[in-house]
Amino acid sequence: MRYLVTGASGFVGSNLVPMMRVRGLDVATPPSREFSLLKQLDVWRLLNQYDPDVVVHLAGLVGGILANKTRPAEFFYQNLLMNTVLMHESWRRGVKKYVTLIGGCSYPARAISPIEESALLKGYPQVESAPYSLAKAMGVVQAQAYRAQYGFNAVVLVPGNLYGPHDNFDLDTGHVIPALIRKTRDAKREGKALVCWGSGAPERDFIYVEDACEAVLHAVLHYDEPEIINISSGVSTSIRSLVSEIAQLLDFDGSVEWDPSKPDGQRVKVFAVSRMVERLG
Ligand code: GDP
Repeated sequence: MRYLVTGASGFVGSNLVPMMRVRGLDVATPPSREFSLLKQLDVWRLLNQYDPDVVVHLAGLVGGILANKTRPAEFFYQNLLMNTVLMHESWRRGVKKYVTLIGGCSYPARAISPIEESALLKGYPQVESAPYSLAKAMGVVQAQAYRAQYGFNAVVLVPGNLYGPHDNFDLDTGHVIPALIRKTRDAKREGKALVCWGSGAPERDFIYVEDACEAVLHAVLHYDEPEIINISSGVSTSIRSLVSEIAQLLDFDGSVEWDPSKPDGQRVKVFAVSRMVERLG
């Protein structure tokens, strides 16, 4: 079997691809500068050149809550277009299996935690990231449609808030854990206060990226069903307690301030993980 991974140099890709290679899988990672996934002809050329049996689509325009709030049009257009075109061309080319990820932010803003997979598309997502979230959620609609009409084996997985090696430490576009690690280090060095976003009250469900990749790889190899699967820890952590834990680990005993001009996002986002346990072991 030949595997093609898009977004191999991204956060998930740079953890997943080495894991696949250690298992002896034949993995191609096309350089993004040679193929624009926004152009149908490039996507066609890509599939023609690599001729994969399985496509693992991880490429996307991604970012934390602020990046989503400031660039909603780009997040909508690029993600919707590349996902739609790549799945379509993969089906046309006769790819045997297609696996992709969407964000936990695709669930409705009012979904009750722990969020079951059945909650998807039952309400509007958190408004700050809705253009991204809905563009990604359309991948689930497309997967179901292509499975129903063409019998195409498209699998969609929903990881929780990932953290770990190769994370994005940019303060404007990154997620909370790398941002707090960096900001805590800087505050300690400069003897200043640690300024965190929002109120500290939100709760999130964090999962270490290598653990998530183990689950994704298991699904790539063994899961062929239409149901989406949450991949997370199912454990709730408040942002306030995350700040204390990081401060403690980095030996920071300065003051902590909260910047209410920055968005809190969804109040609680914790995932039901029983389907992951059942179906992926
Ligand atoms: P989200 O799950 O899409 O909201 O992803 P984020 O990781 O961007 O944010 C998670 C929570 O952490 C939100 O409530 C943020 O307001 C909060 N937060 C606190 N400080 C920071 C920070 O410095 N950067 C980011 N990205 N989030 C922060």
